[in-house]
Amino acid sequence: MTALASPLPSPVPRGPAIRHERGQRAVFCGLTGIVWLHRKIQDAFFLVVGSRTCAHLIQSAAGVMIFAEPRFATAIIEERDLAGLADAHEELDRVVRRLLERRPDIRLLFLVGSCPSEVIKLDLGRAAARLSGTFAPEVRVLSYSGSGIETTFTQGEDACLAALVPDLAPGTDVSLLVVGALADVVEDQFARLFADLGIADVRFLPGRRAADRAPVGPNTRYLLAQPFLTDTARALEDRGASRIPAPFPLGAEGTTLWLAAAARAFGIPPARVVAVTEAGRARAARALQAHRAGLAGRRMFFFPDSQLEVPLARFLSREMGADLIEVGTPYLHRSHMAEELALLPDGTVLVEGQSLDDQLDRCRAARPDLTVCGLGLANPLEAEDLPTKWSIELLFTPIQGYEQAGDLAGLFTRPLARRARLEG
Ligand code: SF4
Repeated sequence: MTALASPLPSPVPRGPAIRHERGQRAVFCGLTGIVWLHRKIQDAFFLVVGSRTCAHLIQSAAGVMIFAEPRFATAIIEERDLAGLADAHEELDRVVRRLLERRPDIRLLFLVGSCPSEVIKLDLGRAAARLSGTFAPEVRVLSYSGSGIETTFTQGEDACLAALVPDLAPGTDVSLLVVGALADVVEDQFARLFADLGIADVRFLPGRRAADRAPVGPNTRYLLAQPFLTDTARALEDRGASRIPAPFPLGAEGTTLWLAAAARAFGIPPARVVAVTEAGRARAARALQAHRAGLAGRRMFFFPDSQLEVPLARFLSREMGADLIEVGTPYLHRSHMAEELALLPDGTVLVEGQSLDDQLDRCRAARPDLTVCGLGLANPLEAEDLPTKWSIELLFTPIQGYEQAGDLAGLFTRPLARRARLEG
């Protein structure tokens, strides 16, 4: 763990050996991101332009969470659309008009592309520009792709946030932009910590409301809160913003290093970071202590799924004493992940990409204590008596920051405790 006296270790990147694998993959598509994004941007609506399969995916992924009128739907592409017998743009305009008449609360409408909309080459960017022209200024219409071809499910958030960037206001003030969807409670905690550190102008992307459009420009420093935002980062840099290199705010150590990186970028002395974070670090340490016995020495195996794998592996090994058998990740952004890679233990087996059968063979041979994987792999592995943790849960649950560090550890100890109870 980070020494209390100095939360600012300067890790020297050692560069763990990274193996590349290509082959069959088992991942959800980017539509899945709608499940947490629709709760975050409270007056947005996500209209998937897709097939019945897309509608089923969203409904089943989000089904348990619908408590009021949902803020997403699917405009179904029928066979006659696929056969080119109907004017898909006209139909889309009709669907959008009906939707906005029925739901005057919508301020931001995302047209979300899918595999079928890409197959028929429906230009949703053009449709969004046309519809924005019709419905602005009350409603802005943007588009992005959640298609499942060659993507993984967190790329849906990346595509959505990247679509928001050109829509942000221009700005020249020195400011901090925290990038990545965080639960409101986590965002509030971070906002308080940044204020205590003395960073005055802090904004979050995405904002909670459509009108919350943070200014961005050459004096904007941005801090990634999620590790899967490659396109969003590029779009922000195209607007002149620059990234603050940092690990991700998972666990007490990750949170401290993340805050410290922001403080350093704004010229705030390390002693201030130590003072401001002291209470949070102490609470996190107490919460983590309760889980350490359950995780120390446990052997972990990560299938590539959420792109959170590297920071999670770092947290589990450094703060909880777990052993890493293999850390798979679908994509590895070398510079966004440099600070994380430097913190992984020497000799960590890191695999980028996936060859599903080969990886399953390695997992079965290793018989890990806990396997972190996608929903599709969890049941078969459980049937083979291998305990699993669904990686998607790590996106639905608030896990960042000091106050959530214990909950993060609990997500990993729970399946192990359940297994222990079953075994009597
Ligand atoms: Fe399936 Fe593609 Fe629709 Fe995703 S976007 S549910 S992968 S058809």
